[in-house]
Formats: sequence, structure tokens, C-alpha cells
Amino acid sequence: MLFTPQHGELRQRYAAIGAEIAAGADARAEGFDFDGWHRLREAGLWRLIVPGADHAQGDWWAFTAALDGLTSTIGAPELALSVIAQAGMVRGLARHGSEAQRDRYFGAILRGEISATGIAEPGTGTDVRSVQSTLSAVAGGYVLDGGKYNIAHAPIMDFALIVCRLADGERNGIALALIDRDSPGLRAGLVDDKLGNRNLPTGALHFDAVPVAASQLLGAPGRGLATLIDTISLGRLYYGLAAANLIAPHLDEAMRYAAGRTSFDSSIDQHQHVQRRLVDIRVGMERSRWLALGALSQLLDGRPEALMSCSIAKLVGSDDLIASATSLVKLYGSLGYHNGRVAGLLRDALGFASVGGTEEMHRKNIFNQMQRLAG
Ligand SMILES: Cc1cc2nc3c(=O)[nH]c(=O)nc-3n(C[C@H](O)[C@H](O)[C@H](O)COP(=O)(O)OP(=O)(O)OC[C@H]3O[C@@H](n4cnc5c(N)ncnc54)[C@H](O)[C@@H]3O)c2cc1C
Repeated sequence: MLFTPQHGELRQRYAAIGAEIAAGADARAEGFDFDGWHRLREAGLWRLIVPGADHAQGDWWAFTAALDGLTSTIGAPELALSVIAQAGMVRGLARHGSEAQRDRYFGAILRGEISATGIAEPGTGTDVRSVQSTLSAVAGGYVLDGGKYNIAHAPIMDFALIVCRLADGERNGIALALIDRDSPGLRAGLVDDKLGNRNLPTGALHFDAVPVAASQLLGAPGRGLATLIDTISLGRLYYGLAAANLIAPHLDEAMRYAAGRTSFDSSIDQHQHVQRRLVDIRVGMERSRWLALGALSQLLDGRPEALMSCSIAKLVGSDDLIASATSLVKLYGSLGYHNGRVAGLLRDALGFASVGGTEEMHRKNIFNQMQRLAG
């Protein structure tokens, strides 16, 4: 059995919360859903994975059951993407954080503070090795210069993990720095004006000699790339899981619509072409969901294929979601093209083409992993 009966209850509980959040979506002003975020915190979402909280020692299957429930009813991705980003931060801190970092930031997460993970830069998004944000050694620590773009939560974050390079020629590798919102020299840009996912504020971060103590580095300086990949792999498979589940309420509505709309003397769900559309969406949902859960199992077991499977889960989930949202627009005819839930889903779905890495990047990673496994 994949989920225990307790996990099943959690799944149901968070599905109910997702449905309530979805029901209030139209009445909310555009922007980050702080109420929904705090609702999830109060429900105990972070206590499932923050080691030591409620005696939970990082029960990722319990958290996954909750995320599975939440994303199957919430209908729009933004809050789910925020949860996934924060879950990645928990994993990074749990696996690579010092005791002081874990004390400080797990406390912050349990209080509902919001994190950001800054990888992409104006000069490079896909090619992480080429980041230009630079950490230079000074007396007593480092200073950080440079900038990031397109970062989820940048305009509202309380703390951030920044991927940067060490200026020091001898150890010219990647480092990960944890910085707080009120750090001197740190400035957040305006909220990006995006096609969709408008309730997930993304934006730029600018660093002008931001002081960084050695104790603020996550993992070993110079070995940041391995630490980063270990940390973001979880997010990759969760993007796949969320992509699979987000379509679920839209598919239910489409089934009802197709049963009620008539053409050529029958409801349109009697036409094989329409049935195929609905079936393909279901197949995509199942494929993406099971791939993501399989990848999670491999990741938690430390299997050698895990990194490849996480990329496959992200790639397939994104492709299926975009294809399914496009197909739903077509199923509703011109109604699908009117501004509304279905057109909104397509706008949001397209964000999955780049959030968490583009398809080209994941194909490249899958090939690299295939070579590694073959070798
Ligand atoms: C909603 C949302 C939230 C996001 N949140 C975050 C976040 O929290 N933190 C963060 O760091 N980033 C975030 N991003 C940014 C995302 O990670 C980047 O957009 C992504 O990594 C791609 O980088 P880029 O946009 O600079 O594209 P580029 O790297 O400029 O790529 C442009 C195109 O070239 C292709 N390409 C590049 N290199 C190759 C290659 N070697 N082979 C084949 N094709 C290639 C790409 O696939 C893409 O199609 C977010 C994006 C979105 C949409």
C-alpha cells in the first residue's frame, strides 16, 4: 500500500482545505494568498516534515499525502507552487543545514515565514554553473554581489537561499548562502507581470555587498551544485505531482459539460473524438501522478535512478498538464477561449514549461543520468 490509512485521512483533510481555498479564489484580490498560506500552517502542514516538530522526523509520505489531497482540489497552481518551494527548503535544511541554521529557519517555517530559492539570473537560467552572483571573501566572512530574476516569493520573502559562485580562484565553485530579508545591501524588485500564476509573486533580487557570515553557507562552500541538486530534486517530482492533480477538478467539470452539451442530436460526450480528449486527459493525470510517486519512492530510498526519475516526473507532468489544459480549451469550443477558469488554467499551465527547469534542461539531465547509470 502506497499511503497508510492515516495518510489517507491526511489526504482527505487537505483535499477539503484545497476545496475551501478554491471556493474563495474568485473573491480574493490578486496577489499571494496569505490566508491560504497561514491556513495550511495552522493545519500543521509544516509539522509533518520539520524534524522534531510534533515528533515527526520528516515524514515525507505524510506530507506527500497532504500535498496530493491539496493539489487535487485547489484547481489553480500558485499556492501549491509556494508549498513545493518551501518543502524544498525544508529538505535542504534537514539534509545539509547546520544545527544553528535548522534551529533558526525551521522555527521561521513553523511560524509561517516565507522562503525563496534564487537560482535563475538575468544572464543564465538553465545553465546553473554559469551563475554570476559572486561571494567574495572579506575579513570575518564574505560579501555577496549580483542579482537574481524570476524568483518565486522574491518580493515577499522572509529569507532566501542564494546560489552563487565563490570569487576565490582556487575554489571556484558554487556556494549556497542563506540570507534574511533585512540584510543590508539586499533589495527586492517589483512583482513580475506574468501571463499566468499571478498569485505567485515572482521578481528580482539585487545584492550589493550583502554581508554573509561563513555560518550562513548551506553545505560545503564550493560543493553547492551537488547540495542544490539534492535539494531541488524533491521539488521536481512535486511539480509533476501537482501538475497531475491540478487538472482533476477541471476534468470533473468537463465531464459534466460534455454530458450536458448537445450537437448532432446527442450529448457531445457520445462523440468518440470528445471521449478521446477526456480519456487522454485522464491518462496524462495518471501517468504523471504515478511517475511522481515512483520518483519519490526512489528519492527517499536513495536509489541511483532517483535523479533521473525526478526529472522525468517534472518533464512528463508539465507536458501532460499543458496538453490537457490546451485540450480543455478546445473541448469547450469558443467558451474555452473566453476569459474564465479554463483559459486561466492554460495560462497557469504554461508556467510549468519553465518553473523548475525547462523541458530541454530536463531532457539534458535525463540523458546525463542515463550515461551515468550505464557507466
Ligand atoms: C512561475 C515561475 C516561478 C519560478 N520560480 C523560480 C524560483 O523560485 N527560483 C529560480 O531560481 N527560478 C525560478 N523560475 C525561473 C526558472 O527557473 C527559469 O525560468 C528556468 O530555469 C529557465 O531559465 P530562463 O528563463 O533564464 O531561460 P534560458 O535559460 O534563457 O533558456 C531559454 C530557452 O533556451 C533553452 N535552452 C537553454 N539551454 C539549452 C540547452 N543547453 N539545450 C537546449 N535548450 C536550451 C531553454 O530550454 C529555453 O527554452 C521560475 C519561473 C516561473 C515561470
